[in-house]
Amino acid sequence: MTSEADIVRRIERAKKAVASLGDLRPGSLSEQYNTCGTPNCRCKANPPQRHGPYYQLNYTRHGRSRTETVHPEHLAQVRSEIRNYQKLQALLDEWIDAAIELDRLRRTTPKRST
Ligand SMILES: [Zn+2]
Repeated sequence: MTSEADIVRRIERAKKAVASLGDLRPGSLSEQYNTCGTPNCRCKANPPQRHGPYYQLNYTRHGRSRTETVHPEHLAQVRSEIRNYQKLQALLDEWIDAAIELDRLRRTTPKRST
């Protein structure tokens, strides 16, 4: 059986990991390929060679979904920020799960009177 001390340690580990996370942001990247308005352009050839890739960052915040364009030079940074956001979500889940477990354990273990 898991002891109270084990659960407390798990929570402390999650808190420390959250505090040491680097820059983060929510979202997911997608690649877009476009056609242009230039007649006889390669994007209208057969088979078409469309322009791109162009990178878009899609995310939903406070109930609103948004799209932002990401320049190729910022891709690595944004990818790393997205990974950190996913780590944050995983750590918060871990923390919350442990917190639920800890509370249950404390409420089912009779307090010793001294
Ligand atoms: Zn074109």
